[in-house]
Amino acid sequence: MRATIMYGAGDVRVENVPDPSILEPTDAIMRVVRACICGSDLWPYNDMAKSETGQSMGHEAIGVVEAVGNAVSTVKRGQVVVMPFAISDGTCEFCKEGLPTACVHVAFVGNGGMNGAQAEALRIPFADGTLYALGVSEADARMPSLLTLSDVMGTGHHAAVVARVARGHRVAVVGDGAVGLCGVIAAKRLGAEQIIIMGRHPDRIALARAFGATDVVSERGAEAVERVRELTGGHGVHSVLECVGTGDATFTSVEIARPGGAVGRVGVPHYEAIPGAQKTFFKNVTVGGGPAPVRAYIKELLPDILEGRIEPGRVFDRSIALDGVPDGYRAMNKRESIKVLVTP
Ligand SMILES: [Zn+2]
Repeated sequence: MRATIMYGAGDVRVENVPDPSILEPTDAIMRVVRACICGSDLWPYNDMAKSETGQSMGHEAIGVVEAVGNAVSTVKRGQVVVMPFAISDGTCEFCKEGLPTACVHVAFVGNGGMNGAQAEALRIPFADGTLYALGVSEADARMPSLLTLSDVMGTGHHAAVVARVARGHRVAVVGDGAVGLCGVIAAKRLGAEQIIIMGRHPDRIALARAFGATDVVSERGAEAVERVRELTGGHGVHSVLECVGTGDATFTSVEIARPGGAVGRVGVPHYEAIPGAQKTFFKNVTVGGGPAPVRAYIKELLPDILEGRIEPGRVFDRSIALDGVPDGYRAMNKRESIKVLVTP
């Protein structure tokens, strides 16, 4: 089969690799129907050291179950399923508590020897716990929105949950990538009254407004903080969704949170210490977040997609076949595209 391998910064190739097969009785084999390129794939695209063996890429997919191991009981052959970016058994104490990204059997698709999802097929460990049957056909027109349940919509929702978005809240979303845009959808869905998108790309801002953003702040640093204060009666916002992962974005998030507010971090941190310790302390601001337990959010978000109340699939503004993946990375990295949909 064909799969995407990254061999170093800027070096993405689609190559022939061995077909996946059932290795454990809890495995399933999934033929990939849709996959995509994630903003987090751009970090290695920019800084990965050269590698002889390469890194298998992609962690978001919808597929059709082709085969299941003997111990798989709920997932069935022929089902159309969404695959969260993290593998989870569905039975351990963390899975039961709604944090499958802390599962005792957690693994991240595309890492630790697992194939990536920018491929024709995948082996899925702990299929019963990991996969979620969508109850739709693979020709369903809502496929792009359903695919976002694999990562970006669940991740934007997680930022909103951790930031304690509630009815009537003032909210700021730091970052106008696909996760930030889904964060706007999530904030609106949870009843936010004011949603400030912090970003500067016209196409992304337009989409953020379509998703429910009420204000736009395109400044950065101290000017951005000042602007948010002006827009919020001088005190800042109740909830900040930090969807970037840099120290600067986190510091801005802490600054624009009002006293007693919360920051939900979902951008993978590219810093060691959380900036603004003095500010978070004296303002009683809670800073939380981490890898989104997207598997646990599917049940809540899926009906909104199926019934047309939210349309996160609009973040996809380019659609390619598997052989177009290297150019898809280039386009996303150059900000020519918000998010690239892959149909193997
Ligand atoms: Zn578990």
